[in-house]
Amino acid sequence: MLIKVKIRPQEALPFPGICVCCAHPAAERMDVRRRMGRVTRMVEAPLCVDCHRELHRHSAPEKRLQTIGRLATGGALLLTLAVALLLTPARMTFGLRVLLALLAGLIVAEGVVLWFRRLVQNAASPERKAIREAVAISHFSWRATTFDFANETFAARFQQLNQPYLMDPKT
Ligand SMILES: [Zn+2]
Repeated sequence: MLIKVKIRPQEALPFPGICVCCAHPAAERMDVRRRMGRVTRMVEAPLCVDCHRELHRHSAPEKRLQTIGRLATGGALLLTLAVALLLTPARMTFGLRVLLALLAGLIVAEGVVLWFRRLVQNAASPERKAIREAVAISHFSWRATTFDFANETFAARFQQLNQPYLMDPKT
């Protein structure tokens, strides 16, 4: 459900005291970010204790993937270093060859890290995905922010609370 409120980036936005995912009483918070160009907008959405715990609990497949990811990153770094040292011409100074090999190793390792980060995200439990997708900032500008809430109870309470600042999401 899309809700647009008139709010400037520095202004505090009132949120109801219920969980954005399940509408139970909230005691925790979840960071919600949206990047557009070079500007990032961040708000803290309320979360109940159970959803907060679920959000930070890593499942067994995720943990396994994280371990494999760390090993793969280390392996890729060492392998690239070795191959790059072999392939760089011997007439270059050794220092320069090490530097080039390190650079290549870091680029490859970075790629492996990003690849595994995506795999870990995909391995997240459906419950955790639902919590993460319970709220999104679908658009923002210097004077308004549009939220997308999945829980209707939360969306209705949020609307009530921000009644004077509501705008038409289609504008
Ligand atoms: Zn909850």
